[in-house]
Amino acid sequence: MARFIFVTGGVVSSLGKGLLSASLAALLQARGYKCRIRKFDPYLNVDPGTMSPYQHGEVYVTDDGAETDLDLGHYERFSGVSAKQSDNITTGRIYRDIIARERRGDYLGATVQVVPHVTNAIKEFALAEIEGLDFVICEIGGTVGDIESLPFIEALRQLRNDLGRGNTVSVHTTLVPWIKAAGELKTKPTQHSVREISSLGVQPDVLLCRAEMPIPDGDKAKIAQFCNVPKSAVIEGLDARSIYDVPLQYHREGLDDEVLRAFGISDAPPPELERWDEIMDRLDNPEGEVTIGVVGKYVGLPDAYKSLREALVHGGIANRVKVNIKWLDAELFEQDGGIVGELEPMHAILVPGGFGERGSEGKIASVRFARERKVPFFGICLGMQMACIEGARNTAGIGQANTTEFGDTPEPVVGLITEWMSREGLQARAADGDLGGTMRLGAYEAELGGNSHVAAIYGATRISERHRHRYEVNAHYKEPLERGGLVFSGLSPDGCLPEIVERPDHPWFIGVQFHPELKSRPFAPHPLFASFIEAALKQSRLV
Ligand code: GLN
Repeated sequence: MARFIFVTGGVVSSLGKGLLSASLAALLQARGYKCRIRKFDPYLNVDPGTMSPYQHGEVYVTDDGAETDLDLGHYERFSGVSAKQSDNITTGRIYRDIIARERRGDYLGATVQVVPHVTNAIKEFALAEIEGLDFVICEIGGTVGDIESLPFIEALRQLRNDLGRGNTVSVHTTLVPWIKAAGELKTKPTQHSVREISSLGVQPDVLLCRAEMPIPDGDKAKIAQFCNVPKSAVIEGLDARSIYDVPLQYHREGLDDEVLRAFGISDAPPPELERWDEIMDRLDNPEGEVTIGVVGKYVGLPDAYKSLREALVHGGIANRVKVNIKWLDAELFEQDGGIVGELEPMHAILVPGGFGERGSEGKIASVRFARERKVPFFGICLGMQMACIEGARNTAGIGQANTTEFGDTPEPVVGLITEWMSREGLQARAADGDLGGTMRLGAYEAELGGNSHVAAIYGATRISERHRHRYEVNAHYKEPLERGGLVFSGLSPDGCLPEIVERPDHPWFIGVQFHPELKSRPFAPHPLFASFIEAALKQSRLV
């Protein structure tokens, strides 16, 4: 039977519960254990798919087509285990299912209530598909004390009781703030937070205390005494110089030892952390440096492009170079001037995924700059669509080329897809249907041209990548676009949907309809990102 680790947070949000969960999984894996990480989100959206990236950061897409919280990206990057739909639940999804069952008559005669119906649904979710696992790490979103997270904490309390004391451990993340005027760290918020969660019936076993300054021994002893844990279970969590140092740092502080001790496990093998040491060595000792210009819309909030940023870092790890990312607001490129001055110092240009018209002409202008100046260019999803519109307008003579996403156009080089083949057969969507969960989502295969640049980069002609889009490059424009030098080098297996375009007359110009950034790992950088950074490095030697 799998053991459960519950990760909660107190005092404030943004303390890095997701990173803690991912790092703990990595440390337990490094000792040979099989782990899975799950995220419980207390909000009422069924999934984050319809939320603005400004509200919620990136939407992370799994192979099985779930639109999930960005923490699942951390989980995958740190554990290498592909997340599934069954790894992320929200209050909205739970209520949707319960209400559907109530309408069907499944609860005939009963009053449907938060306890036991909602809490039971949460427990079922935690306990599903756990065969063969040693540990299930469950992260509860939000902060203890929030009204909406109460049913989750209650379900957690019940699970601890149902599964027996030795089979669950509670790790609580708190903040030990530095008060500058007093020149002191303060333990009181941690004491209050532990009191709060304990009053709900969940006594933490291990505390991760986030702090800006090292926590003196005396303060650790005080926290231990007031919070009812051994002093060794008060783990100091200082800000890390890289997220990939967090597993090593938390291991040095004793996190995994304490969790195992709380389970009463004394014979665990020591962790093999070489791969994390190697990653940190490459990050700490780069042999060069490149600057990548990312021309996007949500550049004010780096979390909106979380996986993209990490995949670029992984490309740097692969090439042992430091990657500087310059976030450039596409909208500013729509005004006169500016673009050349901003883009000229870049060693490569990337136009990422996105939605909506705002900034699109700036993205198209950036594609043109990269094409004409022969600067490495990578277009992802909307970025590929912009590359096709640029090619249509400026190299294929289709001056009015556009996407129907931005309104009616006489030349729909990019248009709405309403039918496509999926693993489950033909999928169909109405043009005016629901927006939630109705995109072409998850892993789909693509067939690559044997002599293409992408086939050489992948070392394969059949690939599988994750998708999240409603619009698609219109295959009817293949001929004029190819005459303009933009080759369709990857197609869906049925030949209907363009998946990749590239320019053979350019050192590195690739557009992909999918999101390769979602599958990149620090210890297994995605080949497209490794190759893109290599191209940027070559470019840096030219300028
Ligand atoms: N807005 C575009 C579409 O829906 C691109 C989506 C994306 O970049 N993820 O097709």
